[in-house]
Amino acid sequence: MRAQPRASHFIGGEWIEDTDGAVIESVYPATGEVIARLHAATPAVIDRALAAASAAQKDWAARPPVERGRILRRAAELIRARNRALSVLETLDTGKPLQETLVADAASGANALEYFAGFAPTVTGQTIPLGRDMAYTLRESLGVCVGIGAWNYPIQIACWKAAPALAFGNAMVFKPSEVTPLSALALAEIFAEAGLPSGLFNVVQGDGACGAALIRDPRVAKVSLTGSVPTGRKVYAMAGEGIKAVTMELGGKSPLIVFEDADLDNAVGAAMLGNFYSSGQICSNGTRVFVHRDVREAFLERLAVRTARIVLGDPLDEATQMGPLVSEAQMARVLGYVAQGQAEGARLVCGGTRRGETGCFVTPTVFADVRDDMVIAREEIFGPVMAVLDFGTEDEVIARANATEYGLAAGVFTGDLARAHRVVAALEAGTCWINAYNLTPVEMPFGGVKASGVGRENGHAALEHYTRVKSVYLGLGDVDAPF
Ligand code: NDP
Repeated sequence: MRAQPRASHFIGGEWIEDTDGAVIESVYPATGEVIARLHAATPAVIDRALAAASAAQKDWAARPPVERGRILRRAAELIRARNRALSVLETLDTGKPLQETLVADAASGANALEYFAGFAPTVTGQTIPLGRDMAYTLRESLGVCVGIGAWNYPIQIACWKAAPALAFGNAMVFKPSEVTPLSALALAEIFAEAGLPSGLFNVVQGDGACGAALIRDPRVAKVSLTGSVPTGRKVYAMAGEGIKAVTMELGGKSPLIVFEDADLDNAVGAAMLGNFYSSGQICSNGTRVFVHRDVREAFLERLAVRTARIVLGDPLDEATQMGPLVSEAQMARVLGYVAQGQAEGARLVCGGTRRGETGCFVTPTVFADVRDDMVIAREEIFGPVMAVLDFGTEDEVIARANATEYGLAAGVFTGDLARAHRVVAALEAGTCWINAYNLTPVEMPFGGVKASGVGRENGHAALEHYTRVKSVYLGLGDVDAPF
């Protein structure tokens, strides 16, 4: 199986190769086959990308917003027309089942492009009456933005960053995770075909050092990272050195709270979605499932029955519901957490094993009797491992749900809507769901609080993070000087 792109980088509208860069291998995690070989960006390649972005940005920002929107809409249409090919590519690069990638990856990226295409022409400033004088504000683009992606939703992440950046007149240099380098290049090609002027969306490959070189460059105005908290701390600090704007979409250990009056089948379904979709490699997953004592056994019974039915296997077979983890390293990490959970005394209800000897398959895993102080209840595992914890009262569960450095997301299942709103108001999380989980439509802002992030992607909130406000004071009379 091959998915070799024409070259490693896409800069200024051209495919660029520089074989001096370290080799990056893209591996299909279902079989271990190398599907593409690329090269990391050398300093010359990074410089070329930033130069191309800088050169193109001002003209782009000066274009009428409807024109910018039209190009983004065309890109969305091209993505939809090629959804299957893009989904197969994403499946090969990530191992996520085609059943998912066909509906959740490129499709979500297209939605973001369509949304921000329509948003661009609606952006206006304010007029501020000041008696005799007045002031007005202008919404300006930031300049060159750097996007750095994680490996779990490669094309979605690239689109969620590129769409608002480009819609509001910025240029972007995007660095995908070296684990999943391929779909961002396909996106760059689609942008070019949609008529995006050269230099506005550039892709460079590389590891953390490449990301750091981009962030530190004085030509860069803003950095948007999707990644882990440790990486977020480094990236935020580097951006802080240059007083650059940031968006940080980081990790989580989100609570999903199931009250005794919840619709149990829906709660079980949501807990499974929030732990096993994408083999559990989703930042907002509800990995601490707090279930009220009175319904705990019934919840666990139904969960075990439904989990046993999950079809784990060949990601390219559309009947498959769960594929492998993204890499051997991730599989080893996840299995390490499973062993730790068992050693700490959590009860393994199901799963917890590697499936087969080829590929990075881990069976969907449920732990019960988990305590708050266990490592599996505190650290982000990023795999198909659900921790079920018991609780008794509303106040208790709120306090325990908030007792974490993370604050990305939270979910509440209950038949009592007054309680649902009261509880989400008390939860320290950037994104909450009531009687639903992990739905992230582009219309809704998404992001975290506490260590889980800074800023928001999607929705109207994204405007704040890809534009800046210029205030203009208009003197309409004589200058009143005391001198
Ligand atoms: P990492 O933090 O390891 O990497 C994220 C990106 O940052 C990669 O492209 C990586 O490069 C790059 N990077 C690493 N070090 C540096 C550095 N010093 N300077 C600049 N860039 C750097 O995350 P993963 O790729 O392992 O993704 C999983 C994590 O992402 C999880 O914690 C998950 O919760 C989080 N995530 C958050 C989301 C959100 O929206 N809140 C959504 C999806 C995931 P490379 O890997 O190529 O070396």
